Order: sequence, then C-alpha cells, then structure tokens
Amino acid sequence: MINQAIDQMMIANRKHFMIPGEVVASVAEDNKLRHAFLVLTKVRYAKIPVLDNADHFKGLLSLSMITETMLGMDDVSLTSLDTMCVKDVMQTDVHTVEDPYDLENVLHLLVDDAFLPVVQADGTFTGIVTRREVMKGVNYIGHNLDDFYDVTPKTTGSIISR
Ligand code: AMP
Repeated sequence: MINQAIDQMMIANRKHFMIPGEVVASVAEDNKLRHAFLVLTKVRYAKIPVLDNADHFKGLLSLSMITETMLGMDDVSLTSLDTMCVKDVMQTDVHTVEDPYDLENVLHLLVDDAFLPVVQADGTFTGIVTRREVMKGVNYIGHNLDDFYDVTPKTTGSIISR
C-alpha cells in the first residue's frame, strides 16, 4: 500500500502525468509499413501506439518490428513495406491502464515499461502515461513534501535498503 501523503500528492499531480491522445504520435492498424516506417523515423520515438479507424487502442509498433520483415538470409528487401500492414507486425501483448487509472498500478507497471497506453472501458485510446512524466511528479514530491506534511523519523537507526 502506497504511503497516504505520497498518494495524495501524486493524485494532485495526476493530470500532468498523461500525455493526451491528440499529441501522441500514432499509426493506424491498416497503414502500410512504408507509411509507418516514415512516421517512426520522423518522430524518433522508440515505440508508438497503433489505433483503429475509431480511435481504439490496438497495439504498439517499433522500427525493429518493421525492419525484421525486410531481412532475408543475406540481403534486405523493401517489398514488405508495400505488401504488409501495421497490424501484421505490431505487438499486441501490451500492458494498458484504464481511465481513470490507479496510480499504484501505474507505478508498478512503469518499472518495466517506458510508457503505458491509457484506454477507456470501450477500448478508446485516451493518451499515454510516461515514466518521464511520473518521474517529474516524484521529483516534485521530493522537493515539496515538507511544505505539506511534517516528516519526522521514527527511529534514529539507518533506513534498510531494498
Ligand atoms: P519519454 O519518457 O518521454 O522518453 O517517452 C518514453 C516513450 O514513450 C517514448 O520512447 C515513446 O515510445 C513514448 N512516447 C512519449 N511521448 C510520445 C508521443 N508524444 N507520441 C508517441 N509516443 C510517445
């Protein structure tokens, strides 16, 4: 269970953690790989969300998922860029969080994932919560906790590391 003071301060900053869908770079599941290749190269993000035509979250796409289809035994072929679609290569086993998301769950999942797609109950994509934005929140708490709470040590012993 997360400390109540930390939880309250995180919740106060919760809206800052999510990058809204309108400003998240994404591709459509039916886009050809050629288009997705250009988008990923331009935006320079390692992985971006894949959506359907009704803005439902479908998966994630990275450059390596595309380039893998181009590799032959001893050559590179560009054919797959025009014959295959994003949905043919995207990652579908993705951790997502439902909007409104539970902060404790988000903190656990962000240990392994750089960002988490936020989806509504019907699958509509809302945005992403990134490790970077949450780290800014942790930084804020580290610097401002004393302004809101009195923190005194319970013992004089050293804190055990985990
Ligand atoms: P950051 O914490 O900002 O380094 O972002 C971590 C990851 O989240 C990036 O590598 C991308 O995969 C994803 N990401 C962050 N911001 C965006 C965005 N505006 N559009 C698409 N993906 C993003």
